[in-house]
Amino acid sequence: MSGFSRRTFLAVSAALTAAPVLGAVPAAGDVDIVIVGAGAAGIAAARRIAEAKRSFALLEAADRVGGRCVTDTKSFAVPFDRGAHWIHRPETNPLTKSPPTGFEIYAAPRSQSLRVPPRAAREGELEQYFSALVRSNRAVIDVSRGKAGDTSVRAALPRDLGEWQASVEFALGPYSTGKDLDRVSALDFARAGEREADALCRQGFGALLAKLAAGILVQLSTPVNELEWGNGLEARTPKGRIRARAAIVTVSTGVLASGDIAFSPALPKRQLDAVNALSLGSFDHIAFELPGNPLGLASDDVVFEKTTSSKTAAFVANIGGSRLCTIEVAGSFGRDLTKQGEAAMIAFANDWLGSVFGGSARKITRAVVTRWNDDPLARGAFSAASPGNADARRILFEPLRDRVFFAGEAVHDTLWGTVGGAWESGTRAAEAALKKMGVLRDEQPALPQRKRRRL
Ligand SMILES: Cc1cc2nc3c(=O)[nH]c(=O)nc-3n(C[C@H](O)[C@H](O)[C@H](O)COP(=O)(O)OP(=O)(O)OC[C@H]3O[C@@H](n4cnc5c(N)ncnc54)[C@H](O)[C@@H]3O)c2cc1C
Repeated sequence: MSGFSRRTFLAVSAALTAAPVLGAVPAAGDVDIVIVGAGAAGIAAARRIAEAKRSFALLEAADRVGGRCVTDTKSFAVPFDRGAHWIHRPETNPLTKSPPTGFEIYAAPRSQSLRVPPRAAREGELEQYFSALVRSNRAVIDVSRGKAGDTSVRAALPRDLGEWQASVEFALGPYSTGKDLDRVSALDFARAGEREADALCRQGFGALLAKLAAGILVQLSTPVNELEWGNGLEARTPKGRIRARAAIVTVSTGVLASGDIAFSPALPKRQLDAVNALSLGSFDHIAFELPGNPLGLASDDVVFEKTTSSKTAAFVANIGGSRLCTIEVAGSFGRDLTKQGEAAMIAFANDWLGSVFGGSARKITRAVVTRWNDDPLARGAFSAASPGNADARRILFEPLRDRVFFAGEAVHDTLWGTVGGAWESGTRAAEAALKKMGVLRDEQPALPQRKRRRL
């Protein structure tokens, strides 16, 4: 893994962990900037505003911070990340630049395993599978660079994937984007680029994010029901009204589309269309313990199967060397399954384990499942642009009347769908708002290095 060492991550930085309590106010009153939502984007925005020594109110509907990046420390003996788990691009990820004391970031294994049920894949089969994946990725990039315009990822795939078609479609579609490939823009997919050099946080990714929020005053259980942005700016909650010079809205595109926050005046059609084009995919975990490593898998191994069906899943084994494992269900199959509830999800997990690992699989008796589509504060997992709509993300970069700024995973061109992308977008939105307020200056163009020679 180039440029990424454990030492780098274990270095402790006072800068990131120092508590920026500055600037926050209670649930009513006047502030410079009101921030809606305390997930990765909201936390990053608050930290940036505090650093600039301006006042803010960070309003969160839930009774906890973290949004879609949250660690459950109660269900199992080890931390279970209910949302985000993998730290993508760790060498540049803003959350892992300098982890707080007590947090260990370690490199995830680079390899993935493949089953040809009920046995492990042979060397030749693995090569065929990875070559099909690489060819498919390349084909999508080629199509997205072509002159024909954007299309779906499925339409861009090579025509000769043959017996690997369904496995490739699952790995690139539901597993990577939460959606089936006919619903994903090839251009949006290609912009996301390589995300494989992953790392993990032993204490949980959500726990790390929550630690980075320590010291920031967050108004928990304070949903914003209404945002007035016509004459002045006011966020209305059941606890009071906050007047501000700017607002940073970090709720998911699912929440924005639901209308749970009444914008007054209503969101312009351009923004609404962008929000709808960036709808959330479905991705969930079925988590359980398998004592004694009966499947003989390595720590943090990710296992896929060769399949002809879309009713498939991925298996994450022995998380952090523990007995905790998860089965990941996603895309339209995952959405239908999670709708049926916990019992159906556990029944699927048992059938799938039995078929993929044969007799060595043990029955799961107790599992904890996530159902992000049913969470009214998320309404899905992460955004992926529909075909033809990759530029919708750029539309959300545009502020409304220079006072409402959107942020969150959907508002990042390349790191969409990730915690790192949400964090960066929160920082950017805070900087954009501070610039409009005259607190930060626009970057000056770089001065020429040398004087021009007279001709
Ligand atoms: C199952 C799953 C697996 C994932 N895996 C990974 C992974 O491995 N790696 C990775 O990098 N990313 C992963 N992601 C994506 C990642 O979790 C998100 O991209 C990121 O956490 C989004 O952060 P955000 O700040 O944009 O939004 P959110 O985390 O959704 O934050 C928005 C906040 O707004 C709050 N809110 C909603 N409505 C209101 C309201 N009316 N008023 C006030 N507050 C409100 C919400 O409660 C929430 O706290 C995964 C997501 C899921 C669901």
